[in-house]
Amino acid sequence: MRSPYFKSHYDSNYAYTKLKASGHTKADSPSSAMSHKLQRNGPTAHYIELGGYQYWPVLVPRGIRLYTYEQIPMFLRENPYITDGYRAYLPSRLCIKSLFILSNETVSIWSHLVGFLLFLCLGVYNMACVLPTVEASKEDYVIYSIELFCFQLCLLCSVGHHLFCCHRSEKTSRRWMALDYAGVSIGILGCYVPGVFYTFYCNNYWRQVYLVTVLAMILAVFFAQIHPHYLSKQWKQLRSLIFCSVSCYGLVPTIHWICITGGFSSELVQAFVPRIMGMYFLATLALIFYVSKVPERYFPGQLNYVGSSHQLFHLLLLLMFYWWHQSSCFILSYRHNQPCPESTMQQV
Ligand SMILES: [Zn+2]
Repeated sequence: MRSPYFKSHYDSNYAYTKLKASGHTKADSPSSAMSHKLQRNGPTAHYIELGGYQYWPVLVPRGIRLYTYEQIPMFLRENPYITDGYRAYLPSRLCIKSLFILSNETVSIWSHLVGFLLFLCLGVYNMACVLPTVEASKEDYVIYSIELFCFQLCLLCSVGHHLFCCHRSEKTSRRWMALDYAGVSIGILGCYVPGVFYTFYCNNYWRQVYLVTVLAMILAVFFAQIHPHYLSKQWKQLRSLIFCSVSCYGLVPTIHWICITGGFSSELVQAFVPRIMGMYFLATLALIFYVSKVPERYFPGQLNYVGSSHQLFHLLLLLMFYWWHQSSCFILSYRHNQPCPESTMQQV
């Protein structure tokens, strides 16, 4: 059931949409007398609702204005519980400029942009200071670079999508969306490569089998994205299902690895399985927020700018990448300290 706040907000937005339809596109929400006053004083300012307080003043550059859910084009309507703060109808130049304004995408954009920069610094630091101390081989550097490159590409694609989804051309917006999905596949690949490489470090045959299988699966997802219906709203659940299947496939090599490493009595299994479970826990939590649209579902219109499910999804994804990166570093150094047992080396 909608809260009274939600209803009144929607009704006022409806009136606003009617105003816009009748040609008064410069008018602001009739529910906000403050906004009218502001329009006279300075056309570049905008009042937003943040938490329970409705009138936080925000300066918006000329040419960019924020819209309500009813005012945005259909292809941007994903989440009716986010009622305001949308950027829309922008050319590329203003999309980039909107990086520095507070809209309902700001936290999503900056969380992954900062994440990208953190992984960049982490990569440079670890390559220069940490990997040489564990006497990493060329192979280690390659695997480590693939992991970080995949994570960073995933984060950059996400930044691009959230920055350019408000483009005035639907085609451009959809292309960025496709790139975001491609980025998620690359992020998953970035998790698989070091995981399979180091867990099957002593078993070259199975290592190759799983690496090839994972690569084939990611390529299949890429080709599925070419399908014209892939990005449609009807296929939304199918898209989530594909990503879930690709992620859950990881349990197959995990169980196989536990069996051939000596079960739960093995010291390495005891140390590494909680890390794998931790990654799956974070990924599941992220997916639950993404699909359920909780918490904004229970507070419609009040989490437009901060605290929405997609922002939590972004933060959890970032945390998961960091968690898995640390886990990869752990198993890499373990493999350098503990040589492979003779028996497993001969196994195929
Ligand atoms: Zn996102």
